[in-house]
Amino acid sequence: MNYDAWFQCSEGCDETYPLTEVIYRCKNCNGLLEVQHDMDPLRHRSPADWKALFEHRYRRTQYPYGSGVWGKKEFVCPKIDDDNIISMYEGGTNLFWAERFGNQLGLNDLWIKQCGNSHTGSFKDLGMTVLVSMVKQIMAESEDLRAVMCASTGDTSAALAAYASAAGIPAIILLPKAKVTREQLIQPIANGALTLSLETDFDGCMEIVQKLSDRKDFYLANSINSLRIEGQKTISIEIVQQFDWEVPDWIIIPGGNLGNVSALGLGFLMMLELGIIDKLPRIACAQAERANPLYRSYQTEFTEFHAITAQPTQATAIQIGNPVSIHRAIRTLRRFDGIVDQATEEELADAAARADRTGLFNCPHTGVALAVLTKMVDRKQIHPDDRVIVISTASGLKFPDFKVAYHNVTPGGPPPRYLNTPLELEADYETVLKQISMHLDT
Ligand SMILES: *Cc1c(COP(=O)(O)O)cnc(C)c1O
Ligand SMILES: [Zn+2]
Repeated sequence: MNYDAWFQCSEGCDETYPLTEVIYRCKNCNGLLEVQHDMDPLRHRSPADWKALFEHRYRRTQYPYGSGVWGKKEFVCPKIDDDNIISMYEGGTNLFWAERFGNQLGLNDLWIKQCGNSHTGSFKDLGMTVLVSMVKQIMAESEDLRAVMCASTGDTSAALAAYASAAGIPAIILLPKAKVTREQLIQPIANGALTLSLETDFDGCMEIVQKLSDRKDFYLANSINSLRIEGQKTISIEIVQQFDWEVPDWIIIPGGNLGNVSALGLGFLMMLELGIIDKLPRIACAQAERANPLYRSYQTEFTEFHAITAQPTQATAIQIGNPVSIHRAIRTLRRFDGIVDQATEEELADAAARADRTGLFNCPHTGVALAVLTKMVDRKQIHPDDRVIVISTASGLKFPDFKVAYHNVTPGGPPPRYLNTPLELEADYETVLKQISMHLDT
């Protein structure tokens, strides 16, 4: 089959560009570009055959088709040569059945999609495998590109550095100084990327990297580049596949730059168009109250949008005041009868800690989504038998200070609600046994 995809202007003008062109905005109107697939060849395979093909490849060994992204190659980036694909077996992440946490909230069908169980510990791997593979393909065809680069709140840079170093391509990383975790900072350093720590916030890094992207020899890897969205789109296909092709009622996803919520929507729309599913879920986008430009716009029913200066939040990966994918996200939320809600610092930390007690180990961004889930249940927006999926965006292991701070009593302040502190004891059998008995009796 002659599958095809290209960049298309998202602002309604008809400009198209090949995916191998180094371009991020429409030359005609400066609109964002979107990847458009030729849907006709995709329709030649029946929905049942697509499902069978995807299941046949899923988590198997034939490189690169065992990857959750490349197992859906025809839907993602069909024309790339397999030889140029840089895959680390992305996707295929567990859907954690949150049975105990769900019971506590009064939900019977709650699941956490563990997108952080991935090579660099966040969902960013899903998009980066597509982008870096395309760069490899471009470099195989011409010698003009010299490096890939991104601005990051810590996870995009980790993913870019890993995939670029696996491909042998130089990577340039712009990070806001002291606003990413130690774990996130050491990832690009370990992978040999040029790591620039700038005296600004994410939005400040983004401005510089956008200027650098006027040069044609550095390829921009931020989610303004919709190749990443194509890889992230597979989250929705994978979720539906994991439920034997049933569509859930609600999906709750944390949002910062808002590429991922747009990607989630695109995956569902593509499946709907091809008859693989026959309805859409509702989507809730969860923001930190201290970085909530989308939430504010939602309050005006999306008639207004104003960029803000994001305030410091524990959810550092979504500390963004001027999201690049704002229009895509609004379009998605309108189409999916979506809602936007927010969480305070205390709410996000409590929600993460409460769910941790039922077997999870949540990052703060997942905490934002879990806090919003709790509010939606309280408002009866979500019903006991609704099937609800919370997108967990990163591994909690990348954010240890968040947890250490929570489980530490600050003198003078009230103790956190789900506090657990280690007891320091003498190495004495009787003392130890006494403490265990006291613990189990309370
Ligand atoms: C990037 C990221 C997000 C936000 O995704 P957007 O596409 O920017 O909205 C949320 N959580 C984590 C852990 C991330 O790394
Ligand atoms: Zn245009």
